[in-house]
Amino acid sequence: MTQTPPMPQEADLIYDVAIVGGGPSGATAADDLARAGHRVLLLDRAGRIKPCGGAIPPRAIRDFAIPPSQIVARIACARMVAPSDTSVDMPIDDGYVGMVDREHFDEWLRVRAADAGAHRMTGTFERFERDPDGTARLQIRPKDGGPLTSIRARMVIGADGANSSLARAAMPDSKRPPFVFAYHEIVRVPAEASARYDAKRCDVIYQGRISPDFYGWVFPHGETASIGTGSAHKGFSLKDAVARLRSDTGLDGAETIRREGAPIPMKPMKKWDNGRDVLLAGDAAGVVAPASGEGIYYAMLCGRLAGEAVQLALRTGDARALATARKRFMADHGRVFWILGLLQWIWYRNDKRREQFVKLCRNPDVQKLTWDSYMNKELVRGKFMAHVRVFFNDLSHLLGMAR
Ligand SMILES: Cc1cc2nc3c(=O)[nH]c(=O)nc-3n(C[C@H](O)[C@H](O)[C@H](O)COP(=O)(O)OP(=O)(O)OC[C@H]3O[C@@H](n4cnc5c(N)ncnc54)[C@H](O)[C@@H]3O)c2cc1C
Repeated sequence: MTQTPPMPQEADLIYDVAIVGGGPSGATAADDLARAGHRVLLLDRAGRIKPCGGAIPPRAIRDFAIPPSQIVARIACARMVAPSDTSVDMPIDDGYVGMVDREHFDEWLRVRAADAGAHRMTGTFERFERDPDGTARLQIRPKDGGPLTSIRARMVIGADGANSSLARAAMPDSKRPPFVFAYHEIVRVPAEASARYDAKRCDVIYQGRISPDFYGWVFPHGETASIGTGSAHKGFSLKDAVARLRSDTGLDGAETIRREGAPIPMKPMKKWDNGRDVLLAGDAAGVVAPASGEGIYYAMLCGRLAGEAVQLALRTGDARALATARKRFMADHGRVFWILGLLQWIWYRNDKRREQFVKLCRNPDVQKLTWDSYMNKELVRGKFMAHVRVFFNDLSHLLGMAR
């Protein structure tokens, strides 16, 4: 175990990298950078559990060494529910979707980073300033509400989520990405749950009454479940929709543990860095998959790429290296994000389209492609004909030619 570097006492001491936000993105960057021997600050305001369905693919578990103890449920099937209430089950033949509980998962990630040598600080980033020599200085409000304290850093990673204060302060000209607002309720699953609830199945509900432009979900977390929905429509009542979902699932009488919501960005930002010493990662950079709202794996990957980019910039003294994080991410995932954005645009428009979309999910090629790309985050070569079949199937459904 690496020793945690002492907290700088002198005003002239500088962190190599200060990371604002200790969610999956920031904690991953902090862990990687500390393991590489850098003096790292991991700042998180703490005190709030991130609202999240908690579904992660096996690729995340593998790439980021997530231990079995963090997986609170293993999902074997997704049920897609259409506006007519007909449903299609998509079983997972090989493997499972892991569910994490963000109350414990995020803290576990932060502890891992601290064990690797990152210095943890609990407080809220408030202001971004520059010293006369140009070095970045962060003004931080300590958790106990005392006077502002400040730290200096050669590089700053902004991983403080979709409402990133750091992005607003250090990159004021950056355009915030479009988002859906998501709301969920964490309920305690009764010992005798209704037959409509399955602890090994994620239900994904495509119904206009549940969301006019996204989807609703029932995600099991072991003893609890996340029941939620999202929408970009300001007038749509997410709370009423979740009440409907709870009643549909037979969980209306279950104990409610938490009610909470947060925005989910729907498009990666055009620029993640300020060309000098600030780099955004995860939700702060808008990196969530459109259509699915999947962000945990991508946030962790962004954290890793951000860590590698700042290391390169520190090593070479060339701030252009910061741009490699976005370049590398988009090279690997830009196409899939674009396709998912298109799918959302085509299929989430109205109940007629949603009905067709769920019907489409019966297709074994669609199921295989969906799981292959979700589980491993890469489309396997040699599936060209499957792509072609899926494409024509999509098109015939869109044109109303499919029965
Ligand atoms: C309701 C809902 C359900 C979701 N379900 C899923 C799902 O099932 N699977 C999935 O993959 N993704 C899901 N997502 C998306 C996923 O939660 C995010 O994409 C992911 O958490 C992004 O990680 P992050 O580290 O970038 O940001 P966050 O997880 O938002 O972490 C940001 C951190 O920054 C800290 N912070 C914020 N401001 C400050 C500040 N000023 N000073 C100090 N610290 C600060 C916060 O305390 C927080 O710890 C869901 C999102 C929502 C809202």
